[in-house]
Amino acid sequence: MSAGSGPRTFFHCHPEGEDPGVLLDPDQQVTEPWGEPEHGPCDKCGGRGATAYECFSCMEAGTDPSCPVCQGRVRFEQTCPTCQGSGEIHRTRRRGIAVFPKREGLYRYLAWKNDAGVEGKVVVELAGELSDDCDLDADHGALLILPRQLVSVEPLDAESVRAISDRTGEEDE
Ligand SMILES: [Zn+2]
Ligand SMILES: [Zn+2]
Repeated sequence: MSAGSGPRTFFHCHPEGEDPGVLLDPDQQVTEPWGEPEHGPCDKCGGRGATAYECFSCMEAGTDPSCPVCQGRVRFEQTCPTCQGSGEIHRTRRRGIAVFPKREGLYRYLAWKNDAGVEGKVVVELAGELSDDCDLDADHGALLILPRQLVSVEPLDAESVRAISDRTGEEDE
């Protein structure tokens, strides 16, 4: 599958004060929505069952033909990750840890999700298998993995997130 040296790694945002070792515990490898889980008609796709995807990692770091999210497509249409094509949200608890294949993609996601606190967070680089489940925000290039190895932990650069936020906020208007 993967070419190059070493396993492919992925990037996850984690609270600074919490042991990133918990990410390796299979019992804790689940992702739930921030805030109250919402069930019912899907607002992401308006009930169509498909939605537009944007790979934040390739948009920020450059198109990558080996990207596990988009294979270099960057923007494409696919089954809605939130309702999984049914038009109704039934299941918001997903198996795996939410990650991005590039650090830049994680930063762009945090900038996009402007209620995401970026202070007191670290970026954890992980290696592991892809989950067969999909993240609720897969349409922004998030993946779920079952981490097997902690590769690195570094401070989150809140300044970079703010810079992306300033830039993309203008693009949207
Ligand atoms: Zn991509
Ligand atoms: Zn949907």
